Amino acid sequence: MTPSLSPIRSHHVAVIGAGAAGLVAARELRREGHSVVVFERQKQVGGTWIYTDHIEPDPLSLDPTRSIVHSSVYGSLRTNLPRECMGYRDFPFILRSGVTESRDPRRFPSHREVLTYLRDFAKEFAIEEMIRFETSVVKVSPAVESDGGDGIGKWRIESTENEMKIRRDEIYDAVVVCNGHYIEPRVAEIPGISSWPGKEMHSHNYRIPEPFKDQVVVLIGNSASADDISRDIARFAKEVHVACRSNAADMYIKQTGYSNLWMHSMIERVHEDGSVVFQNGKTISVDVIMHCTGYKYHFPFLETSGSVTVDDNRVGPLYKDVFPPAFAPWLSFIGIPWKVVPFPMFELQSKWIAGVLSGRIPLPSKEDMVMEIKTLYSTLEAQGIPKRYTHRMGMTQFEYNDWLASQCGCSRTEEWRKEMYLTTGVRKRTQPETYRDEWDDHHLVSQAHEDFSLYA
Ligand code: FAD
Repeated sequence: MTPSLSPIRSHHVAVIGAGAAGLVAARELRREGHSVVVFERQKQVGGTWIYTDHIEPDPLSLDPTRSIVHSSVYGSLRTNLPRECMGYRDFPFILRSGVTESRDPRRFPSHREVLTYLRDFAKEFAIEEMIRFETSVVKVSPAVESDGGDGIGKWRIESTENEMKIRRDEIYDAVVVCNGHYIEPRVAEIPGISSWPGKEMHSHNYRIPEPFKDQVVVLIGNSASADDISRDIARFAKEVHVACRSNAADMYIKQTGYSNLWMHSMIERVHEDGSVVFQNGKTISVDVIMHCTGYKYHFPFLETSGSVTVDDNRVGPLYKDVFPPAFAPWLSFIGIPWKVVPFPMFELQSKWIAGVLSGRIPLPSKEDMVMEIKTLYSTLEAQGIPKRYTHRMGMTQFEYNDWLASQCGCSRTEEWRKEMYLTTGVRKRTQPETYRDEWDDHHLVSQAHEDFSLYA
């Protein structure tokens, strides 16, 4: 079917979350002429970058009734992307002239610097005036049949403000979900764990290394968090062992530069006497197992009668990782892809959603969107890619971004940004200890700053 353009219209749009995704969504929606309300359950903007000493009462974060601590950021965290690459395209992550006090000028700065940058962004574009802080969205459901009658879907949003003192029940034309995806932990299945006497926790609840003094700790995972946290803890712990299912079954390597840090294959099983047995045959007595095993997509407020589901970490069906065809364009998601450079992608997804909602950018028919999603799923299956990797992008992110850019009439991803992402990835693998402080891609930094002069 040929897509048809409707007249340009502005809509009343709810954005859930004021992290990096929600902030840029709000900006782009307002720029496009929509009226926007952002719901944010915390007291300030920044989402996951708001560091807190607090952790959840359940160290594995499995109890559904626990009080949620949103941030997973730990004290020593520095970004794993260089700031030039990481920032929004038209609001570079640089130190602006005259503002240097209390800033972290490093290329891979601390989490505080990212939060400051997001606050600056919110201030520059007067986003806060659209935000209702300390307001949790508790339910989002279709108010009338989506796309019925006038072609506009309506959504009922129920929210609570100031710890339930105010309850609201409102109708919006469209909802953009930006609630973050690092809150609901995944944990590894370990044979024998129910009778193992040690302490289990998820990296979501890791903040500082001192409590691990003189302990024997096993971390499970091969992500950036496992890399960083194992090294952080090794400064205090007696021994640190990293187990990972993608490592060869016989792997047992002492990490260069450390006397107490080893890489292993996966855990085979654990025993009542506190021991942990690895697939490589090694057995050690362990105090703590930390799961650095990532997170699940979670939309506890969303009621779509099964039209949008999360199945083995596949959110679907979603056209281009953004629109569920059954509700397009009135329901959309920002930030679903992973292994990406998030902020510039959020920016492009936001521009696309804003333009599609106003009718300036056409969407294919529902049938065509559904067909494309089915083709994607069959291709993944044929390639033997598990469902849980549906939204993993890596290098394909740039093709995806360029497609979004073409829809929105924006320029493609800058060559320097792609190359910087690639060279940083290589350095991370080859010099994990020093990649944040030693580099040789100075020419890319210069090219980035040439581009930034357009915006500074
Ligand atoms: P979030 O920042 O999580 O924001 C979501 C917001 O939604 C929160 O403010 C939350 O309070 C709010 N919210 C949720 N549910 C509700 C509700 N029901 N009602 C109202 N409000 C709600 N990215 C990089 O680019 N570089 C890095 O170096 C990097 N390092 C990372 C390290 C760690 C440990 C983690 C966890 C992530 C890292 N990331 C990094 C990825 C990071 O998550 C993204 O960069 C980005 O900040 C995500 O933004 P978001 O807006 O999607 O989610």
